[in-house]
Amino acid sequence: MNILILGGGGREHALAWAALQNPKCDKLIVAPGNAGIAQIAECASIDIEDGGTVAEFAAENAIELVIIGPEAPLAAGVADRLREAGLSVFGPSAAAARLEASKSFTKEICDACHAPTAAYGHFTEADAAKAYIRAGTAPVVVKADGLAAGKGVIIAETLEEACAAVDDMFGGAFGGAGAEVVIEEFMTGEEASFFVLVDGEDCLPIGTAQDHKRVGDGDTGPNTGGMGAYSPAPIMTDTVTQKALDDIVRPCMAEMVRRGTPYQGVLYVGLMIENGQPRLVEYNARFGDPECQVLMLRLGAQALDLIHACAEGRLSEARVNWADDHAMTVVMAAKGYPDAYEKGTVIKGLEAISDDSMTVMFHAGTTAKDGAVTATGGRVLNATARGATLQEARDRAYAMVDAIDWPEGFCRRDIGWRAL
Ligand code: ATP
Repeated sequence: MNILILGGGGREHALAWAALQNPKCDKLIVAPGNAGIAQIAECASIDIEDGGTVAEFAAENAIELVIIGPEAPLAAGVADRLREAGLSVFGPSAAAARLEASKSFTKEICDACHAPTAAYGHFTEADAAKAYIRAGTAPVVVKADGLAAGKGVIIAETLEEACAAVDDMFGGAFGGAGAEVVIEEFMTGEEASFFVLVDGEDCLPIGTAQDHKRVGDGDTGPNTGGMGAYSPAPIMTDTVTQKALDDIVRPCMAEMVRRGTPYQGVLYVGLMIENGQPRLVEYNARFGDPECQVLMLRLGAQALDLIHACAEGRLSEARVNWADDHAMTVVMAAKGYPDAYEKGTVIKGLEAISDDSMTVMFHAGTTAKDGAVTATGGRVLNATARGATLQEARDRAYAMVDAIDWPEGFCRRDIGWRAL
């Protein structure tokens, strides 16, 4: 099978790595890819948010399956365009990707099927939003409705702060994403991510994870795209997982089918769990980054079969061959991230790290230049390891970090603290 993966981060490196473990993968192209991906697959520089361009490129290269990594091409309708061209596509239509692209849409779907989630109000102008806030209690959560790269969510400790956030959002602080605002009840509990493959109504869970959003040890400092993750998430017991599937995921997916916009792809289910009861925080229409890295290392070669079955609507026949293992990924970032950071610094020591079924150094923001690997993004490397226990996975992941000679980089030293 000839495969095209869209994206160029650690998530796509992990997807490419998993695809290559499977003998069914004949040819693999990643667009745009990065320096790490270029070591294992062909990389192509095309506009991945333009469906027509991607469809043309796929035809020229006899591609049979397209795996879409990031949210932007999904929201831009690239999956729709590729399906029209007759390709197998892993990733939802633009209409189904609204589960990520519009927070009020997700709330509406939850309302329609009574899926447990935070109480909320949805507003298109500031005065009504502020009146709703003043009638409630703090803390309260203010969200820009649209895609804001994880920055459009304000957890306000006071009602005044919440009202100020509303003014900022309607004032254009998040561009078009803040033209509508969702105000939510603040939920307490522990967060976990649950990953489910969906092809219309059939749902197949493929694992759980927990990530670390804050930049500093002990969950301090500003929010980031994610500084590390591990799988499985201990809080996702079999009972909680079953509840999340029965009370949240399945009813929501049935509602999407009922509306004529079935979901096809991986559904990232962000949950808040308290007293064994999961409630929905958010849906994402793609794998999380870095959660994908730990899931791919755990699934290995079967990941491609599952993704392919999902893309072809054959999930009812698919089974996951679970290993009783654990995985962890530690994100190495450029000093200064998530604020300003230096680009073009040289990373040494990569050649000493062995890539096998237990340890892989996934690249997130790297470029190869004059024989050297340089850092070009904020999050740069993902030291990812597997083990019989989480501690074993963690020891392996940090041993990889310690083998890297990159004075301009840093990582959190406490990934997995909650589970360990
Ligand atoms: P990201 O893309 O970074 O996951 P997002 O912009 O899609 O974020 P959400 O996932 O809805 O936004 O919210 C981001 C984070 O804010 C959540 O992971 C959670 O920690 C917190 N959060 C969001 N909504 C609530 C809520 N109602 N109660 C408590 N915490 C919340």
